[in-house]
Amino acid sequence: MTSEEGTFAASFEDSPMGTALLRMDGTYSDVNPALLAMFGLGADAIINRHYTDFLHPDDLDHAHAQFQDLVQHKISAFQFDTRFRNSHKQTVWTRVSITHGQDSSGEPRCVAQLEDITEIHQANTLLRERTQYDQLTGLPNRTHALAVLKTALLSAVPENENVVVLSLGIDNFTIVNTSLGHTAGDALIISLSQRISHELHEGDTVARFRGSSFMLQFASGTTLESAYERAVTIVAELQEPITLAGHVIVPRAAGGIAVSTPDHTAQTLVQDAEAAMLASHGSGKESVTLFTAEHRRAVVDQLSTESELRRALDQSELTVHFQPIVDIRTGTVAAYEALARWNHPVRGMVYPDEFIPVAEDSGLIVPLGEFVLARACELLSRNPQFTGRVFINVSTKQIGRARMADVLTAALSDWNIDAGRVALELTESGVLQSSPEELADLEAITRMGIELVVDDFGTGYSSLTTILQNPIAGVKLPREFSSRLGDKETGDRISSAMAGFVSAAGMYGVVEGIETEAQWDLAAQHGWHFAQGFLCGRPAPMDELTFRSERIPPL
Ligand code: C2E
Ligand code: MG
Ligand code: MG
Repeated sequence: MTSEEGTFAASFEDSPMGTALLRMDGTYSDVNPALLAMFGLGADAIINRHYTDFLHPDDLDHAHAQFQDLVQHKISAFQFDTRFRNSHKQTVWTRVSITHGQDSSGEPRCVAQLEDITEIHQANTLLRERTQYDQLTGLPNRTHALAVLKTALLSAVPENENVVVLSLGIDNFTIVNTSLGHTAGDALIISLSQRISHELHEGDTVARFRGSSFMLQFASGTTLESAYERAVTIVAELQEPITLAGHVIVPRAAGGIAVSTPDHTAQTLVQDAEAAMLASHGSGKESVTLFTAEHRRAVVDQLSTESELRRALDQSELTVHFQPIVDIRTGTVAAYEALARWNHPVRGMVYPDEFIPVAEDSGLIVPLGEFVLARACELLSRNPQFTGRVFINVSTKQIGRARMADVLTAALSDWNIDAGRVALELTESGVLQSSPEELADLEAITRMGIELVVDDFGTGYSSLTTILQNPIAGVKLPREFSSRLGDKETGDRISSAMAGFVSAAGMYGVVEGIETEAQWDLAAQHGWHFAQGFLCGRPAPMDELTFRSERIPPL
């Protein structure tokens, strides 16, 4: 044995990482103690067996194809996440990396390294579950409800069935919220959700949407007649007086029903039900209204967000607010996130959740994105004393064909801003389900020196490995999660596992929605690098920025 071979053998044996050597036919020729410990097996049970014997069936095809490519030298390495059962029948999640190598006598081998990522994986799953439910009521949230509805619509079409949905809303909710305060508003929502839940039949799904609006998807097979009768009962139930903060409130409830056609998407079906609900509110007579095309037109005319948004862009009703992102170690403002706002002449301040989807559907997201980018550059250009960065939200619709890289190049040169001062926030789907055209655009952007950050990490469906395979500099953990800091079983476990993953992957992590000192302290303890949230500063217009964190003194 040469000394080099001796060193290899020693490091193979001692490596804390599960390591195995595979022959070109995929059978194990050698395994180290760390790997045996992971599997909970002796060497005899593994040596000479084929690697696929230990793989989860879902991962076989992918692994097989890649392994063939590796053996044929089409690729030099590959990586995937998989799970297997150890000898104690526990599921162990591992990240497997396979490359070329040789054994101690120089025979060509494939070297497989296995890292146990069970804890991170569990945290990721937990996080995803947490982000599908409304925190106040515990009901499914909009995202979750739309996913359920989508599945129901998919199975309804071939069966020639219809899905019936009911949108429910209270039109005096804002008054309660502003006059009696948020605690009373929250209490009202909780009691309404309980009243609705009380009326549910088996197979129904109820979800809380925004503010005081709820959506009920009736169990499959529910006829329109019975849905209508039940809706009337539910609305009557919701209108029962309730005492809040010493005041008797009579909720002004209304419902709107829509029945699916084969052309409906989950989104449009809900929109139709909401349009019918608005008609109920408007008429003041009917408590429940069935959707007709008239309602859609009425809503479109009334809000006509798209044409209004077009006008807003022309007439500078749009503006951008900036929210500080603070370095947890020093308490200084490291960056600002640019958040679009719409000063509507009638509706007042409109928040992005309402108009970004419309902008995306209509293509207006491209000029809107350019506007936000210009304001972000303006912030940097007008405040040379600030040396940090701006984070800009980018929707998938701005990437690929819309040539984000070109848009960025133009804006940066117009304002004479260094590319390193800008980071783009993309959703998981934006980065991970990209077409070749979109990937090329993203690559061009990173080549320019602009960092990509995954926004609302954990709410999408990406595996951790896919994150690692993309040029991601940082991830942002959403507020749904940071509000659970302090809950040892879920929030804290997720937080520390995720912070560990982020650091181990060489990325930086931003926790969003930090509202209290306690949350800040825990985020710091868990190893997050940056914090964003009302504790450090609310989104504010450019002229009102102090470039200091509101959380003074730091730490
Ligand atoms: P996001 O990027 O995850 O932004 C964070 C949201 O959380 C912002 O809401 C912010 O105002 C809010 N927030 C920050 N700290 C706290 C806190 O401590 N407590 C609470 N309760 N909320 C906090 P906002 O401004 O309504 O934005 C909503 C979403 O709209 C953003 O989520 C982003 O996905 C999207 N968005 C905003 N501006 C743009 C834009 O210019 N382009 C695109 N494509 N999307 C945008
Ligand atoms: Mg964001
Ligand atoms: Mg976010």
